[in-house]
Amino acid sequence: SAAIKPLVAGNWKMNGLKASQAEFYKMVVGISDEVADTVDAMICAPSTLTALLAEKAGKGPPAIGGQDCHTAASGAHTGDISAEMLADAGASAVIVGHSERRTDHGESDAIVNAKAQAAWRAGLIAIICVGETEAERKAGNAVSIVEGQLNASIPDGATAENTVVAYEPVWAIGTGLTPTAADVAEMHKAMRVNLEGRLGSEGQAMRLLYGGSVKPANARELMSVDNVNGALVGGASLKADDLLGILAAY
Ligand code: PEP
Repeated sequence: SAAIKPLVAGNWKMNGLKASQAEFYKMVVGISDEVADTVDAMICAPSTLTALLAEKAGKGPPAIGGQDCHTAASGAHTGDISAEMLADAGASAVIVGHSERRTDHGESDAIVNAKAQAAWRAGLIAIICVGETEAERKAGNAVSIVEGQLNASIPDGATAENTVVAYEPVWAIGTGLTPTAADVAEMHKAMRVNLEGRLGSEGQAMRLLYGGSVKPANARELMSVDNVNGALVGGASLKADDLLGILAAY
């Protein structure tokens, strides 16, 4: 996977005010040309900030992403945001199927699949999230659960250009806990085999991110695991020093 350019994508979740543009700008100026040549950087901001941060970033990096989108392009869906709206505001990607959306908003694999197609329709990269719960891992079912999510959440037509997959064990998100490097290697290998089997060379070249309590202190170990092509980062993406520290793992 040496030919795959890695991606470090930050997920600000429900954090960030207009004043956060200052911290964001530290990221913009802190990403050196050398780092930008080696690794792609992205911030998935709350939608209230999409346009402001896109303007601050200019050409970037970081690129700007959304955190969720509706399946429809427009219409009577109070409170929702479409992929077209995110693209119009300057986003180039959108996270779909984050475990917090699956849990808090009851999003099924079928809904996630439809949202990924909506992202493509608007010209956005779909960052499709999968991951097992603690109970599922303890029961020995982590790999089969994730394979089921991949099969049902990733639409036909996924390519290495239009899709990024993020493996995020639910029990590792925001907890400070991470799987062992061996467990990450096992899961990412299984995901690679699954995606290659279904998508051929596109699955071979698709970026597979690890997410869950990635920090500057553990980034180098996690990012050097086979078939890990970057990170999806929550808490540590809010501070420029932390994000730049994770990018420095490359
Ligand atoms: C996430 O929610 O995508 C995530 C990885 O969060 P954290 O880094 O805070 O565990």
